[in-house]
Amino acid sequence: MTRFCVHCGRLVDGGAHEDCRTPRTALEPPRFCPECARRLVVQVTPLGWIARCSRHGEYTSEETD
Ligand SMILES: [Zn+2]
Ligand SMILES: [Zn+2]
Repeated sequence: MTRFCVHCGRLVDGGAHEDCRTPRTALEPPRFCPECARRLVVQVTPLGWIARCSRHGEYTSEETD
């Protein structure tokens, strides 16, 4: 469940995210876990990226819409 903005780490429902929703930002890897807002460890791969939360595991670019 996505509760937190992956780009700024604040609650998705908690305010404006204009800077997080630009086309450019949408292509960037996430920086925060959408479930707990922990800092993700991001690894860029030839196919995209892998972002790892110490608690929730891996997110990959292929799973994103
Ligand atoms: Zn945001
Ligand atoms: Zn997490």
